[in-house]
Amino acid sequence: MPDSDTTSPGLFAPPRTVQVLLPLPVPGPYDYAVPEDLEVPLGAIVRVPLGVREVTGVVWGEGSGDVDVAKLRPISEIKNVPPLTETMRTFVSWVARYTVSAESSVLRMILRMPEALEPPAPIRALRLAGEPPERLTPARRRVLEIMADGLARTPKEIAHLAGVGISVPKGLQNAGALEEVILPARRAVPPPDAQVEGPNLSGDQETAAASLGDAVDKQVYEAILLEGVTGSGKTEVYFDAIARALRSGQQVLVLLPEIALSAQFLARFEARFNAPPAVWHSGVARRQRRDVWRGVATGEVRVVVGARSALFLPFRELGLIVVDEEHDGSFKQDDGVCYNARDMAVLRASLESVPIVLCSATPSLETLVNVDRGRYRRLDLPVRHAGAAMPEVRAVDMTKEGAERGKWLSPRLADALTAALEAGEQSLLYLNRRGYAPLTLCRTCGHRLACPNCSAWLVEHRHRGRLQCHHCGIWSPRPEACPECQTPDSLVACGPGVERLAEEVAERFPDAAMEIMASDTLMGPADVAALVERMEKGEVDILIGTQVAAKGHHFPMLTVVGVVDADLGLDGGDPRAMERTWQLLHQVSGRAGREERPGQVFLQTFEPAHPVMHALVSGDRERFLEREKEGREEAGMPPYGRLAGIVISGTKESEVRALAQDLARRAPRGPGIDTFGPAPAPLSLLRGRFRWRLLVKAGRDVNIQAALRTWLAPVQLKGSLRLQIDVDPLSFL
Ligand code: ADP
Ligand code: ZN
Repeated sequence: MPDSDTTSPGLFAPPRTVQVLLPLPVPGPYDYAVPEDLEVPLGAIVRVPLGVREVTGVVWGEGSGDVDVAKLRPISEIKNVPPLTETMRTFVSWVARYTVSAESSVLRMILRMPEALEPPAPIRALRLAGEPPERLTPARRRVLEIMADGLARTPKEIAHLAGVGISVPKGLQNAGALEEVILPARRAVPPPDAQVEGPNLSGDQETAAASLGDAVDKQVYEAILLEGVTGSGKTEVYFDAIARALRSGQQVLVLLPEIALSAQFLARFEARFNAPPAVWHSGVARRQRRDVWRGVATGEVRVVVGARSALFLPFRELGLIVVDEEHDGSFKQDDGVCYNARDMAVLRASLESVPIVLCSATPSLETLVNVDRGRYRRLDLPVRHAGAAMPEVRAVDMTKEGAERGKWLSPRLADALTAALEAGEQSLLYLNRRGYAPLTLCRTCGHRLACPNCSAWLVEHRHRGRLQCHHCGIWSPRPEACPECQTPDSLVACGPGVERLAEEVAERFPDAAMEIMASDTLMGPADVAALVERMEKGEVDILIGTQVAAKGHHFPMLTVVGVVDADLGLDGGDPRAMERTWQLLHQVSGRAGREERPGQVFLQTFEPAHPVMHALVSGDRERFLEREKEGREEAGMPPYGRLAGIVISGTKESEVRALAQDLARRAPRGPGIDTFGPAPAPLSLLRGRFRWRLLVKAGRDVNIQAALRTWLAPVQLKGSLRLQIDVDPLSFL
């Protein structure tokens, strides 16, 4: 709904003033005068002078009256886009308050697409006109044959269709045989067709879909957890709710964690709604994003499927939000404004008074506890679609039946791969380590090759012949001799990455078709899509993959999943390490046996008795989750307590430490709140910046944001120093 409240026209003096919020690091909104002849609604996107420049901002409220009206500069232009709704403006303020950021920083996430504020350029096309010239070249004749149907086409299209240069249609225009017509700009995306029948839903699916449908029809805020094992049809169920929302004229936002997921998902969406959704993430071409932003604001775009930043699109008739894989850590942004898109999506849904569906086979503990507390409603899909069984999960005790030296596959896993190959089935080997080896060291002096800019080892990428830092991207060729002791041929690779695993697989299974799926071996979403297609067609026997391969994909012929190092990710001081490892391995396991053929999962572990392995093998997730909850509650950790991470960084370590220590002296401590640190961060050097951390821990009833503001507002950052506030941190590096 467009905003109805406008500033009163005020026929008499004094002239009206308004506050304009600018997406710039300035203290707050500034006052501007409204020119006599202009109607400026609240939320309008405007151009205003600032110093010697002109900037874009949003009309945020009545003028403050602090500055003499005569001294105020006027708004120069109102952009031809609908104003930000009142809900959207409230959303900006609440996100800012929650994340302890400036409203201007949040607004910047909304106004990132300045091109979208300009109306799209009309299309100049040509169509048949008048008599053809006397003598026709073959090229001109071909063009006229194509244009004989009287339709208007752009010169580029004509040239393409006729197989001629662009000058040919232009020449015909000059000769008077074609004339220019101006066509309205194209739609950003074709509208989805919500009338198409979905599949017949099973009993459980039907119950869940009806329940979601009711929530959509009611158009009140409600948070619903749609939980179901992988393959139980959650996507089909929320597609049904999307269709419902579309039929009643509402816009829909679907947040997805991985860009790589989108190919299969988008194809499915297109099959269901006869049109692709509008897609929004940083990998989408700017022109396309411009069209999506504008289409969302004008209401032309009805469904957006996007990464976390899609949450800041200016929907005007939002009727439903879906967050798929709600537990996924990539919904968290941990620089700039640190926000969790899942949580902020719940906030947005409540402000918009619309339902939100959180989907997962492995919901986060936060969400489960919200269900326990009665804040979220839970809908269950207990079985896999069409009766596919859940895979059988086994732990392989690497202390007893490990791999040979320098190899990574246990005999048991290797046998399973052999059996799958013989049966014409596919296997997935999961190892969340890109490259060839995570560490390179010198056999002679023990020197380890580290990044000069980060506290991290350099990772060998053998087929590119490089050593690379996964944090800052710096790389160098693999040296012939140790850079420390100069001994030639002394460097050895330690530990496996996917490339090294591929070497072992190629050696053992020379006839198998093997491919690697990792974010850096693939060029982009198109390559992921192509590989997914080869998997679907059965052109790949063994897929070796990192996290990109773990999630969402549906490969009917995949029956064996081998987790090469199930213990990876359990170390370190992260309070969510167990939960996250369990979720991830459960997801990976869920790739196996999604149709008729039953699946088998092998977890290679040095700790088969670990609660995570036990939970995966026994399938007793309830007990595992109860233990996790108990542990968190005892420790006062989220969701039973609240955390905020503070990172101070800069190029001079002494300055960083001094500021961290100074902050620590004034840190919030008292009943229900405490501050730990300062200490050098685990990643104590990142891209050439030294990093120190503090961690604030508070009870659930404490307003941690208020404490942070009081504590940190007076801080003046000098030189290279930066201070990052991360409320509800997921990363402790
Ligand atoms: P989830 O999202 O829970 O992992 P999906 O929605 O992806 O599950 O469903 C798994 C597979 O089963 C998909 O190929 C989907 O098309 C199919 N499927 C699920 N429900 C039905 C149904 N009612 N009719 C036909 N196919 C279905
Ligand atoms: Zn680095």
